[in-house]
Amino acid sequence: MIKISDSILNLKPYVPGKSIEEVQREYGLTDVIKLASNENPLGPSPKVMAAITKSVPEIHRYPDGSYYSLKNALAPYFGVAQNRLSCGNGSNELIDLIIRIFCEPGSSILISQASFVAYKVCAHASRVSVTEVPMKRDFSVDIDTLLKAWTPQHKAIFLPNPNNPTGLYINSANILKVLDFAKNKDVLVVIDEAYVEFIRAKDYPQTLELQKKYPNLIVLRTMAKAYGLAGLRLGVMFAEPEIIGIVERVRNPFNVNLLVVEAAKAAIQDKDYISRSQKVVWDGLDYFYEAFSQMGLFYCPSQGNFVFFDTGRDSELIFEQMLRQGVILRPLKNYGFPTQIRISVGLPNENEKAIKCLKAIL
Ligand SMILES: *Cc1c(COP(=O)(O)O)cnc(C)c1O
Repeated sequence: MIKISDSILNLKPYVPGKSIEEVQREYGLTDVIKLASNENPLGPSPKVMAAITKSVPEIHRYPDGSYYSLKNALAPYFGVAQNRLSCGNGSNELIDLIIRIFCEPGSSILISQASFVAYKVCAHASRVSVTEVPMKRDFSVDIDTLLKAWTPQHKAIFLPNPNNPTGLYINSANILKVLDFAKNKDVLVVIDEAYVEFIRAKDYPQTLELQKKYPNLIVLRTMAKAYGLAGLRLGVMFAEPEIIGIVERVRNPFNVNLLVVEAAKAAIQDKDYISRSQKVVWDGLDYFYEAFSQMGLFYCPSQGNFVFFDTGRDSELIFEQMLRQGVILRPLKNYGFPTQIRISVGLPNENEKAIKCLKAIL
């Protein structure tokens, strides 16, 4: 047997949320709701479905390898030049590409404790080590400690904003602190804004603007959340043309599939769907906050489409009991949170069912 490197053998694979079919089968239920993966509860946009149906007769062809028409639509939508963006098979692929390209094997990335897991998995797969800095007691990112931990070994700093699973965000002043620190150093600052459409905080940074002043800033966005395309996979990356040029050289020729190109072009035009997505999330968050306050449970105010809360007991047990009632949540033991759970915002009736079951169990 071929010798496999320890960093691969020790990889902890990403554990996705339990699927509805799995729970139906294992628990003999028909009525199952999934509030475990921060998906869009509205279902797909009708405009997106029409666009996909229209392009189905073309799927025997390869997609346009340069995805010219997609870039042509995305660039004005995001207000950037076409040579400042690239696309990936979800932002996960872009995270992987950034690490593979800009971090030499043996170098490191710098992250905060309890960050989104993809950075760690991709780094280890590329033989890049990970420095994880302790978070603050309130679960927020400790920017000063993070910057103190930086050494020239660290080729990239990954900051999910807001963070998943906590939902907490880094404000504009703290992002500027990181960018000023990193300026003129040999390090990339990668800000992962998967939930940007749901931000309500007034002091959230305008990173696409900041890129004009900070050339080592990379911004990641996704179509998986507010645009409802999680199953089709499309991530978008914004950076200096030099950085984009290198990513374009390394990425697989057809990393963005033919159907998602048409779907994404339709999705960004469906303003009504995006505002309905925002409304369902904002109303749902406020509903959860109210319910958790009533139940006396600690929660983190969220800038995403999910809430991190503390059950005060073994969350795996609560998770199991909720499954038996047909509600899938995300326990966070593998993030180092033994009593906390993440709940995604669903439709109003799904949120109500989840809270009703939780109340009965607790
Ligand atoms: C959901 C999420 C993503 C999206 O990943 P895709 O690969 O685009 O589906 C990226 N970053 C964070 C922090 C997320 O929570």
